[in-house]
Amino acid sequence: MTQTGGPVVTLPRALTVRDLSEALHVTNVEIIKELMKRGIMAAINQTVDYDVAADVAQTLGFEVARAGIAVASAPDATPDDQEDEASDLEPRPPVVTVMGHVDHGKTSLLDAIRQTNVTAQEVGAITQHIGAYQVEDKGHKITFIDTPGHEAFTALRARGASVTDIAILVVAADDGIMPQTIEAIDHAKAAKVPIIVAINKMDLPAANPEKVKQELIQQNLVIEEFGGDVIVVPVSAKTREGLDDLLEHINLVAEVAELKANPSRPAEGTVIESEKDPNRGPMATLIVQRGTLRVGEAIVAGASWGRIKAMFNHLGEKITEAGPSTPVEVMGIGTVPRAGDTFAVFSDEREARDLAESRERARDAAESGKTLSLEAISGDIAAGRIKDLNIIIKGDTHGSVEAINTSLLKLGAEDVRVNVIHTAAGNITESDVMLATASRAIVLGFHVKIDPGARRVAATERIDIRLYQIIYELIEDVEKAVKGLMQPVIVEVIDGHAEIRAVFRVRGGRVAGCMITDGIVRRNSLARVLRKGAMVHESRLSSLKRFQEDVREVTTGLECGIGTERFDSFAEGDVIEAFHVEERG
Ligand code: GDP
Repeated sequence: MTQTGGPVVTLPRALTVRDLSEALHVTNVEIIKELMKRGIMAAINQTVDYDVAADVAQTLGFEVARAGIAVASAPDATPDDQEDEASDLEPRPPVVTVMGHVDHGKTSLLDAIRQTNVTAQEVGAITQHIGAYQVEDKGHKITFIDTPGHEAFTALRARGASVTDIAILVVAADDGIMPQTIEAIDHAKAAKVPIIVAINKMDLPAANPEKVKQELIQQNLVIEEFGGDVIVVPVSAKTREGLDDLLEHINLVAEVAELKANPSRPAEGTVIESEKDPNRGPMATLIVQRGTLRVGEAIVAGASWGRIKAMFNHLGEKITEAGPSTPVEVMGIGTVPRAGDTFAVFSDEREARDLAESRERARDAAESGKTLSLEAISGDIAAGRIKDLNIIIKGDTHGSVEAINTSLLKLGAEDVRVNVIHTAAGNITESDVMLATASRAIVLGFHVKIDPGARRVAATERIDIRLYQIIYELIEDVEKAVKGLMQPVIVEVIDGHAEIRAVFRVRGGRVAGCMITDGIVRRNSLARVLRKGAMVHESRLSSLKRFQEDVREVTTGLECGIGTERFDSFAEGDVIEAFHVEERG
């Protein structure tokens, strides 16, 4: 498949690793690492074919053309190649996310806005939760994401989606700025999304908006009253005071941001929620970001695809089309896509299916891909590929965090900036790791622990968390990374073993009937076949099945069928060793 947007490189039918590294301006080691991830152990002079080379080039951000074939004719180019003409662009509603500290009234505010401004409610329509809703204020529509909180916002961003145009920061007038308020500010800033502050609970006698404003200033949010551009609106979700004012300001900020999209093109956007409905099958709530989505169209959402059978708006009403910024629930996608996946419409169903399948493979490859570590970033800095080192600092006290922050800010080298995107006292949380994923940041902890949830997410998202007991060592590591001096090393991690109990002939070759004797074997594992302890073949799995069904992984004690790429001369008693490679410090 051809990815778009990156520099174009033209590759021949076959070329050596060295040729490829020269064509892509990266080191041989980099190419060899990428090949290893695909189960290919190649030396510098070894030849790889076009498909493999193109896959590596795309992973490294290139758009690939085959020598002699024009890019435009690539059969599965995604529709987003077509840039819009300025004259095709039309204003679109803003998409708004509500954030803030727990109990400050995020949910109440979303409910109050929905009840006040969503028509058709009075006819007894059931409140349909599809993850987003739209209101109209003086003829201007606004779309609200119905899952409040910066965690959900950043989780979408971590998947690569940027849906939100404006963040509403809810601060309770009686409570003021709290730790999660600060987190929310940092998350919104990291996403470069404009913030509107809603000072909520103004109905309470203890409300002290002036104190809240002072605290906002301390967080470097310069509010309008003091000559800045952050709008503050006092509201009460309880009495609904100030809600009109809030909506008006949202529209104002949207107008300034000149939010536009071309409604007359194949639709594209983001999945914000998904579920498997027992009656209707996989359902996904999408926000259309460009173009117009219509019933009957073939779409690809992440690694899922299908033809849209029916669409529903946020009131649960059937609709036939949805334009830019519209939230819509769709039925007809074959499998449940992930929240944060992007979607696009295809004119050809086969193209849609091919793209979804190639995405599935790419996802498998990415999942066995590299950890975002200080070493990996250092390598990227050394190679001149990145110019920013984003850091999140968690420490035991505000004092230690500040001391680290101050020292790190002095570290920026000639071409590399150190950006501390979030600091706080306390353990490393799941939300820190999601922010790191979304902003490609490293999490550094000083005298703190890692929450179990954070550890789990860090493992799946492959984010490096480093813990230190001595400030100097932390600073020294970052300094080395900034100078590009920390080099990644590749290590091999053995995941499990499968003993071959029988060999079966299938269409197109032979597969090994195995028992997993230890660990786990994954569909995307690299694999070597061992005969009496000696290696007879090394590549990757080409199939992994249980009872004829394709599966993603099989664990100890279970039987399965395994096929390997470019090899099927299995013998009973052989052992298949499953492994993956990782970058480590
Ligand atoms: P969230 O955790 O930020 O979503 O907060 P909720 O919306 O669940 O509200 C937390 C509590 O604050 C609830 O008991 C609400 O009834 C109350 N609350 C929310 N908004 C207001 C308000 O404007 N005035 C008053 N007095 N209470 C409010």
